[in-house]
Amino acid sequence: MAADSNVRFSLLQRTCQLVVLLCLVHISVTVFFYVRSLDGKPAFVQNQQTHNVSTQQNQLRNPKVTTGTEPNGTESQKEEPVEEKKLEKCPETSPLLVGPLRVEFNTPVTLDQIHKENPNLQLGGRFRPRDCVSLMKVAIIIPFRKRDEHLKFWLYYLHPILQRQQLDYGVYVINQDGDQVFNRAKLLNVGYLEALKDYDYECFVFSDVDLIPMDDHNTYKCFSQPRHLSVSMDKFGFRLPYNQYFGGVSSMSKEHYLKINGFPNNYWGWGGEDDDIFNRLSSRGMSISRPSGDVGKCRMIRHERDQKNDPNPQRFDRIAHTRETMSKDGINSLSYRVVKKENLDLFTKITVDVGKP
Ligand code: BGC
Repeated sequence: MAADSNVRFSLLQRTCQLVVLLCLVHISVTVFFYVRSLDGKPAFVQNQQTHNVSTQQNQLRNPKVTTGTEPNGTESQKEEPVEEKKLEKCPETSPLLVGPLRVEFNTPVTLDQIHKENPNLQLGGRFRPRDCVSLMKVAIIIPFRKRDEHLKFWLYYLHPILQRQQLDYGVYVINQDGDQVFNRAKLLNVGYLEALKDYDYECFVFSDVDLIPMDDHNTYKCFSQPRHLSVSMDKFGFRLPYNQYFGGVSSMSKEHYLKINGFPNNYWGWGGEDDDIFNRLSSRGMSISRPSGDVGKCRMIRHERDQKNDPNPQRFDRIAHTRETMSKDGINSLSYRVVKKENLDLFTKITVDVGKP
């Protein structure tokens, strides 16, 4: 009985040994063929390719890397045409937008701080995205006189927003020289012409210096119809004061602007010029596009009335005659003298003599 079970045990032991041996042979053969298959090829091929592509794209997307930085010009010259092909159009809606923004004016900001916080800006307050070709070349025109504190807040808030909106943009501050009565619309006309001397802008955003958007989905670009962007201002209880209101911030393509002969030059002092622009647009069959009340929310920096910008008593009479006057008064009759043009870190400042009433 004991001898019988001994025989059975040793048979089982031998079978097990055989199975283990077969397994070892199988594993060795597998390892052998696996090692042979790797011979001469680097491991993690997929990753390396991915790495190479992204490095190449980064280089191609950065014009500074490809143009003129190679000691031997041959290589960079070869790569340049590829750059044009590789850069794709930016998406219709920028993926960088964050939505509603906190806007307050209690803590003062400095130009130095704004400059440090926006390292990708070019001289003159210019920017374009590095990773894609912007959908639009936009000139932002700000009529200005002695509002440096407001301008700092504007630059502080707007530069990051405009960059997130992936615009190819430049900021133009049109500073009225001297102490004559202020003329907002004439300064806007000057901004349009002067910006076009710098770059082939397709779209013009006309903005007061004291208005800050509260949502970065309110894109500072042009649409198929002229656009009113500052649709719900805190000063008006976050609503439109009246349906035809076109003041604050608006945008127009070159085509829209030329269709109405630009803006009037003879509104001296506060008020009416924005209503005249509205009349021009509607008389040329255009309608106004607007963002929703939520997206179009904006804050105005509170301030005292400026000197030499009292309400213009002639504005009601002028607005009543836009249709008759607009073909003679506009970009075709504009006269001014540039006193000084400065390409500053955060904006281009053009000081201009626009005459007097
Ligand atoms: C003036 C506009 C102004 C609006 C809102 C109107 O009476 O004519 O120029 O933008 O009021 O203040």
